[in-house]
Amino acid sequence: MQPKYHVITFGCQMNKNDSERMETLLKKVGLESTNEKDQADVILVNTCSVRQSAEDRVFGLIRKFEPLKEKNPKLIIGITGCMPGRDRDQTFKKKMPIVDLYFPTAEMGQLPRWLGELRPELVNSEDTVEDYMKLKPEYHSKRQAFVSIQTGCNKFCTYCVVPFARGLEKNRPLADILEEIRELAAHGCVEVTLLGQTVNSYRAPDPESFSDENPYENHFAGLLWEVNQITGITRLHYTAPHPLHMNDEIIDAMTLPAHLNFIHLPVHAGDDDVLRKMNRRYTANQFLEVIDRLRAKIPDLAIGTDMIVGFCGETEEAFQKTVELFKTVSFDISYTAQYSVRSGTAAWRAFEDDVSIEEKKRRWDVMQKLMEETVFEKNQKYVGEIVSVLVDRHAPPKVTDEMLKMPEKIQELMAAQPGLCYGNSREMKLVRFEGEADVVGEIVDVRVTRADKWVLIGDRV
Ligand code: SF4
Repeated sequence: MQPKYHVITFGCQMNKNDSERMETLLKKVGLESTNEKDQADVILVNTCSVRQSAEDRVFGLIRKFEPLKEKNPKLIIGITGCMPGRDRDQTFKKKMPIVDLYFPTAEMGQLPRWLGELRPELVNSEDTVEDYMKLKPEYHSKRQAFVSIQTGCNKFCTYCVVPFARGLEKNRPLADILEEIRELAAHGCVEVTLLGQTVNSYRAPDPESFSDENPYENHFAGLLWEVNQITGITRLHYTAPHPLHMNDEIIDAMTLPAHLNFIHLPVHAGDDDVLRKMNRRYTANQFLEVIDRLRAKIPDLAIGTDMIVGFCGETEEAFQKTVELFKTVSFDISYTAQYSVRSGTAAWRAFEDDVSIEEKKRRWDVMQKLMEETVFEKNQKYVGEIVSVLVDRHAPPKVTDEMLKMPEKIQELMAAQPGLCYGNSREMKLVRFEGEADVVGEIVDVRVTRADKWVLIGDRV
């Protein structure tokens, strides 16, 4: 019987993409995927360290594996991702004695050798891979793909563990990125999301790979242009850019045909003192100036952001400036986090975590309410409009009370119902409409008849 692996991924899209590369490697050396943990010979957990709660979940999960390990002492349990990346003195590892492998993401290419050392019968090759970014991810969707263009970060925001967990910024060669996207397009992919911690700071290590006709000097704008030339890719976007690098060439490249009508631009706070303490390297006005430039070029652009409330020293007055900034921009979506201390960061070293848990929660509630009201209001403008949707899932029709009254006819009645299709518009709004499962993977036009805060509802045109 073929040996089996089970991968569990926490955290951001970057982690999901890394897990897809890890799966490619595991399959290459002869393992196959299983959804059943108790069938697995190898369980790998790709961890996130952004918040304490994310790390706590990993400790809890590993405790749940103890009975599995008792039943099958040969089971290999591995941990990768941000936790081992930042756990230089192995403090966390000591709390998880059943873990056999503990490695930062960048070392995943050594897996065949380590597995071979622990259980040689599991792998058909112990060949290692030096640069894991050269591995082609085992994509889970044929039509959409996340393509990492850089790893690590140089910005050192004072609350953030990423530069410690993932190291300094390292950019992939342009030629490798374009080859990966061309291959994806050749296999039917239509939507690409470029991934990086500060994705728009991208600098190609191989600038000679840019086409002679490419009109842009800026490397990230140039990359957007190159992807636009790839036949089949009709939906392109990226996450997450840093406001500091949002220059006019990049904004111009966002008007090219494939680019989606959406940007996720993290702001984190609206008060200059807080932004300075966070080491975000811009003021609130500079952020607003970027928004003005984006809207001058792309007036109907949907804009999302990330916020942190309750950062060290954030007074009520400072918090109100964040509220004001939100109102000024009128974001289409925001992900608000309550600040949580991360050991090893500059904020942990230098500042007091002086906003109470209750106050953080109150500020979070204020931001969330504001966001939900704003989004609901903004979504009304789509009613009556036609939006272009890449359908990514289908839910079968629900069994209704009426159907239950006629059990002998239930299958017939179910078959007569189309079910519901879901997908994102070019503004990254979730859209729902009645349709059959065979529409999944298609790009269809939907006329919006009703707008809720989290979903636009309509009919296929
Ligand atoms: S830009 Fe700041 S928040 Fe983003 S990954 Fe880098 S250090 Fe972390």
